[in-house]
Amino acid sequence: MEAVFCNISILIRGEITIGTILPNLLRHVCAKRFDWASGRVSSIVFAVFGIKPLPELLWLLSGVPQGCYLSSSFFATGEIMTKPLTILGLESSCDDSAAAVVRYVPDKKAEILSSVIEGQTDLHAQFGGVVPEIAARAHAEKLDYCVERALQESSLTLQKIDAIAVTAGPGLIGGVLAGVMCAKGLAAGSGLPLIGVNHLAGHALTPRLTDNLAFPYLVLLVSGGHCQFLIVNSPTEYRRLGGTIDDAPGEAFDKTAKILGLPQPGGPSVEQAAEAGNAASYSLPRPLLNRPNCDMSFSGLKTAVLRARDTEVSDQGGLSHQARADLCAAFQSAVTDVLAEKSRRALQVYLAENPTAPMFAVAGGVAANSTIRAALETVSKEFGVGFIAPPPSLCTDNAAMIAWAGIERFRLGEQDDLSLSARPRWPLDTKSPVMLGFGKKGAKA
Ligand code: AMP
Ligand code: MG
Repeated sequence: MEAVFCNISILIRGEITIGTILPNLLRHVCAKRFDWASGRVSSIVFAVFGIKPLPELLWLLSGVPQGCYLSSSFFATGEIMTKPLTILGLESSCDDSAAAVVRYVPDKKAEILSSVIEGQTDLHAQFGGVVPEIAARAHAEKLDYCVERALQESSLTLQKIDAIAVTAGPGLIGGVLAGVMCAKGLAAGSGLPLIGVNHLAGHALTPRLTDNLAFPYLVLLVSGGHCQFLIVNSPTEYRRLGGTIDDAPGEAFDKTAKILGLPQPGGPSVEQAAEAGNAASYSLPRPLLNRPNCDMSFSGLKTAVLRARDTEVSDQGGLSHQARADLCAAFQSAVTDVLAEKSRRALQVYLAENPTAPMFAVAGGVAANSTIRAALETVSKEFGVGFIAPPPSLCTDNAAMIAWAGIERFRLGEQDDLSLSARPRWPLDTKSPVMLGFGKKGAKA
């Protein structure tokens, strides 16, 4: 009989029962990750929780034909019920090269042992936006350096890491490729499992990293390339209630900054300038508020800022410091109003389905904005819903969230092999129809 080579990884955690083994196995079979008949078997992951299984038991349950050759690598064994999981995460989907080490200990708050970010703001500054080719090259240059520093700062070596998680999409494809190739090299060289992570899942699961938030919760994911309301049912199950039909708010902040001559990234500079401004000085639109759903639009708002600036320049002969601050305040207020009102609608839908212990979280770069955070917290209070906004450093792109999302997948017994591919587009909710214009700028969608 033809030999079957397989690599069985057993992940033991004290939470669920043996009943999950078979469905898990079936899932892998259905996904055609292995094929006993042809003898082509690469990797099987069993998630065995709550018991101390014997390898023989798993062997029996797996249905592997007797007499085949087994090369097994056990990275956790039966007696380890509380073994912490330590994962190295890599992020490179846009203009931040990042690596982080995160440790998960069952029943405890996860710990970020290190988080290194090499931003590329200076490289793109003269172009007024992220240049994909420049970004990809910088990632390829900087990622291994980030990994080295992340390991050093966590005082760990690769031998002490349980798996490598990497953003496999969505994002600028050159950057995602640089990250995936780097992670594959590390995984192949060290023999560690490889976990491909959806960048959006990284953002959406951050409230669990920071606050141990229980499922299901509502999250507003609002960043430079995305804006959507999601009900997060599990690390792999998301339901989109609505989102932007054109630009993302972060993109609108960046363009507003450019229009007003403020530095990139636009979010922090517009927020800072807005502090000295009067939002009532300009009347800017609140698009799509007349629609009863959770969809949003921000491209018209950006155009309105452009018109207001041009009118100001032609009437006053230039843009004064105060006029710029007022426009920033008016823009920020319009974005805040739209996000707050659409959050009310999303909360209504979420609450109708999940009335017990409801929680609303915000994630993504724009969630670093204190006016927006405060408004969303107020809306949550109106509905009697708990509110979580991760610290600003975990709202913008980082690798700790990728390591954490990797931990979440790994705990479910999921991992990838070296055929993992980089994906420019990768919606979290695959059942809902693709949104019109969603991510049309191609930045990250
Ligand atoms: P991300 O796409 O998650 O990396 O987030 C980056 C985006 O968040 C950029 O478009 C930034 O302009 C935006 N951003 C970062 N900080 C802020 C802020 N304080 N206010 C508004 N937008 C922000
Ligand atoms: Mg992001």
